[in-house]
This record gives sequence, structure tokens and C-alpha cells, in this order.
Amino acid sequence: MRLDHSYANELSELVTPVLPQALKNARVVTINQSLLDQLGLPWHTHDEWLKVLFSAASPLNQHSVAQKYGGHQFGHWNPDLGDGRGVLLSEVIAPNGERWDLHLKGAGQTPYSRFADGRAVLRSTIREYLASEALFHLGIPTSRALCLIASDEMVYREKSEHGAMMIRVCQSHLRFGHFEYFFHSQQLDKLEHLFDYSFKYHFTELSDSPDRYALMLSRIVQDTAKMIASWQAFGFNHGVMNTDNMSIHGITFDFGPYAFLDDFEPNYICNHSDPQGRYSFDSQPGVGLWNLNALAMAFSPYLSRQQITEVLNQYEQHLLTEYGHIMRAKCGLKPNNVDNSAIINEWLDMLASEKKDYSVYFRLLCDFEPKLGVSSLRDSFIDRTRFDRWAQRLAHTLSEQNWPQEQRSASMKQYNPKFVLRNYLAQQVIDKAEQGDFSLFETYLVALSQPFADNPELEKFAAPPPDWGKTLEISCSS
Ligand code: AMP
Ligand code: MG
Repeated sequence: MRLDHSYANELSELVTPVLPQALKNARVVTINQSLLDQLGLPWHTHDEWLKVLFSAASPLNQHSVAQKYGGHQFGHWNPDLGDGRGVLLSEVIAPNGERWDLHLKGAGQTPYSRFADGRAVLRSTIREYLASEALFHLGIPTSRALCLIASDEMVYREKSEHGAMMIRVCQSHLRFGHFEYFFHSQQLDKLEHLFDYSFKYHFTELSDSPDRYALMLSRIVQDTAKMIASWQAFGFNHGVMNTDNMSIHGITFDFGPYAFLDDFEPNYICNHSDPQGRYSFDSQPGVGLWNLNALAMAFSPYLSRQQITEVLNQYEQHLLTEYGHIMRAKCGLKPNNVDNSAIINEWLDMLASEKKDYSVYFRLLCDFEPKLGVSSLRDSFIDRTRFDRWAQRLAHTLSEQNWPQEQRSASMKQYNPKFVLRNYLAQQVIDKAEQGDFSLFETYLVALSQPFADNPELEKFAAPPPDWGKTLEISCSS
């Protein structure tokens, strides 16, 4: 095992040393074994993790720090952000040489806590754990969850709740808001240190290029576009796309009141604190570009306006290319030069106008048979004339592909998950966990880690929500 503390050591002027503060009767309830193996960490038991997290001599908190950053929140610049309830424990160099951050969320107050308690609640840590694992197994770039820690400490949100912690793992915790902060506060020497650090550790192959700033921005633009394309294709609504919640690695980050779509409503708003729908499902691609514009300001000491515009102009094409790629695969359409967007869009329009469950209906589509006139899929639509017109068109296109039905269906099932994370199921997991029972959490994790499998034993996790489960209000407080 190799630990490193490059951020804490080399950017000491951008951090504050903070020790994690244990919670009352803290106990580890889950460790992500496959991630643990990938990182090559030597601590395997729950007790070992407790010790290594909270004993003063532990190598994990010798150099733990809170990072300073800012962010555009709902369009408004806020310079007063930073790790208010989390600390960067350490970096780990995995056996394959990759560098990963270990970040403990819910670790107590820091200089950036403002007036808040520095804690996270069990509800929100379970939601982040489930979401990051669900996205990962769908192939959507995301931070990961290594370990969940429950406790008997009560924390007050809208009501009294159990405090908890989790360890989040990602390439780095560098957010758009880090760069924005040092630019807007005109601390350009620190901004330069941050860029130098980023080239040294995270954009290494660009570091010797005279175009490294443009290339770095271009990489972030591309990665962000791809991430958002996969959100749109799999029906994921992040909910709080503030620039402090955007990672420079183009990974899904800082999970709050997110949702996977149930009924397909293109303008769905998962965040009940966002009545205007700034971060609604179909606003996400546009917000991604808005956020990249905000980040690009921090590149302005190094790039001309024209250079920045050229890079930002690549965003739309990256997003459409990736989205088109996944959507064709979801519809069983082979990649070719034919424009199939009319078929895909009409399918989406039908789902929207008849309020069909997004994931269930894409999964049903995997068994679409061109020759079958009448089918249960057809029967489930009210407007069958419209369905028939569309089905004929799809059948015609499929017949030209020369792709055996069974193979096409199997391929589609690798893009249309049987199990997506449902808020109503997450809520059931949370209700049980609040009573000290984590068994449902564990079995739901099993389903979410094999989202494309047809596993009859896990069937109950594939069901769309009953009516009460569609209208759950997910609190933003966490
Ligand atoms: P979030 O909404 O989780 O992205 O957090 C936005 C900002 O508020 C970040 O700077 C967090 O560190 C801070 N924050 C959120 N919740 C708390 C809390 N309970 N205690 C201290 N800081 C918090
Ligand atoms: Mg955040």
C-alpha cells in the first residue's frame, strides 16, 4: 500500500489541516470489497477501518485537510464554500499506479462549515452510496463509495436524524469551483499553483505541451459532455449542478436530491428546492455548458477569448455524439451513417405523452419483434395507431440491419438496465437502516451492481414505483 498527500503538501496554502471527529458509537456497516481490492488497501475488517479512521496515530489522518473552493450556486457566485463537512484523508496509489483520493464525508466542522454542524445524516450517505455504485455499474462516470459508517449521534435537520459518514473515492476532489475561487479572488499565483499541480498529477500527458491550458479545458469539456450524455440516456437527474458540485474529471459528483426518472417527464425536477427547474432533467445539457463557461473564466489568464470559445464550441458535438451512440444502442440500432434520430425521438415522445416508465419501457423494447403485429408492448399504449406507425418504421430499419433478433436483443440488454436506483426503494432501504437493519441496503446493492442481468431473485427491485413512490419529496438537506 502506498499513501501520498500531494495536495495537502504541495498546495498547503489552499487547505486547512483538520482532523476527523468521531461520531458517538461509530460503527462501520459496509465496506466496498471490490473497490478496496482495486485500491490495494490493507484494512479489511470493520474494526480495522474504525481504528484507522479515528485513532490519532493513523496514517489516514496525519495529513487530513479541508479544501478551499467556491462555486456558482443556482447561477450566483459564492466565494464562501469549501469542505464544510468533509476532509481529504489521503491519496492512495493503487497497485496499477493510479492515484485516488479518500475523502471522509460527515467528518465534523471545518473552517468552511459556516454555521452548520459539519455532519452528514444516514439518509444522505446511504443515498450517495447507492447512487455512486448504481451509476458506476451502469458505466456512468462517477465518484465511488468505499465505506459507510453509522452512529448513535443525533443530528438535526428538519427533524432529528442519525449522523453517519462515508468515504468517497475519486481521482481527485478538484471541482470547477476550486479554479473559479482563485480566479475570482484574483489570487492568480495560487491559481497558477493549482494549474501546475493539476498538470503534474492529473493531466500529466499534457504538461509539456505549449497548448496545455487549451488541451486541459478541452478534456474537461469532452468528459463533462460525455457524462451528461449518459445521464440523459439513462434518465438520471442530478438536481444540484452548482459549479462546486462539478468535477474536473467529468464524473458525477456530490449526490443530493438526485433521481432516476420513473415516468418519462422530460422536464422533471427532482430537487424540490428548485421550483424554477434550473436543474431539471432536460436542462442538464445546457447547464453543463453554462458551468463550463464559468470554469473557462479561470482559464482566461492563459487563453484568449477566441481560444476559449473554440474549445467550448466542441461541447455540443461531443454530447450529441455520445448521446446518439448510447441511444442507438438502447434502441437496437447498429452504428452506421444513417440518421436514426427520428425513430429514437418518436419513441421518446410516445413515452413522454403516455407517461411511461423510462427504464421499464426501454427494457421492454429489447424484446421488440419486427414481425409481431400485436404484442403486450403495443397493447400497453393508448395511441396504438401512433405506436403502429412507429413500429413499422422501426421494423423496416431493423430488417435492413441484418442483425439476428436474439443477438440484437442481448446487445440491447447491455444498454437498458433492468435495475435502476429508484427513490422509493432507496427510501425503504433508509427506513430499515434507521432501525439498524442494513440487510435491504445490502441486497439492493447486489441488484444495482448487476443492473443489466435478468436475475429473478432480485425481481422486486425491478418494479416501477407505486403511486405513492412517484411523489416522494426528497429533501435537499443532508
Ligand atoms: P452541498 O449542498 O452538500 O454541495 O454543500 C454546499 C456547501 O455547504 C459545501 O461547502 C459544504 O461543505 C457545505 N455544507 C453542507 N452541509 C454542511 C454541514 N452539515 N455542515 C457544514 N457544511 C456543510
Ligand atoms: Mg457540494
